[in-house]
Amino acid sequence: MTTIRAEMIAELVTANRVLANEGVLDAFGHVSLRDPDDPNAFFLSRSRSPGQVSAEDIMRFDLNGEVLDGNQKPYLERVIHAAVFAARPDVTSVVHHHAETVLPFATAFVPLRPVFHLGALGGLRPPVWDSADEFGDTSLLVSDMEMARSLARCLGDKPTCLLARHGALCVGSSLRQATFVSVCMRDNAKVLAQALQIGTPSYLSEGEVAAAAAKHDGGAPVDRAWEYWVSRLD
Ligand SMILES: [Zn+2]
Repeated sequence: MTTIRAEMIAELVTANRVLANEGVLDAFGHVSLRDPDDPNAFFLSRSRSPGQVSAEDIMRFDLNGEVLDGNQKPYLERVIHAAVFAARPDVTSVVHHHAETVLPFATAFVPLRPVFHLGALGGLRPPVWDSADEFGDTSLLVSDMEMARSLARCLGDKPTCLLARHGALCVGSSLRQATFVSVCMRDNAKVLAQALQIGTPSYLSEGEVAAAAAKHDGGAPVDRAWEYWVSRLD
């Protein structure tokens, strides 16, 4: 393995640990990284809780979710990552999570609109994908490419999307950015739920969402947050 590839896999392992430590991922959920040497492939852990993932667990898949490298048991929902990478050339990393603060918004259908500056990272109004609309009664897991492509269509060009009665999807132009979007979505959901309890939330305007999201799109703020999360792993 080249040094660059080893460093990239190490960062993916760190992202798994960070997202678990920050309460975005728990026993379930996953984070992936597009292969910089082959845009039609991506890296994702074998079926394992993100907080326990190490470099040996990382497998490589094509954009149909088929295994390219690795012979361990993959996540069933790896197809989510495959379909999003296929639909979104601008996306380098995908996070699928069931963050506790976000789940109420995936079931009560109160729009998860940004209520503080970093909440803007989640977009103006995350779309909601309801598997029942097209697929009827299922386990709610995104278990094949047909479902995954439907979900990717709902995500469209947005940074986040809710999966009704299931969880959420966050994407980014880098591993750190997707992690940042995920943590900010977790926080925005918490703040919004609390604001709804004490009064009427003041939502960011469309212009504020655009400006705040642009301000935190990669670069120094993302690296600063990453450094902070990594320091909290010890
Ligand atoms: Zn899931």
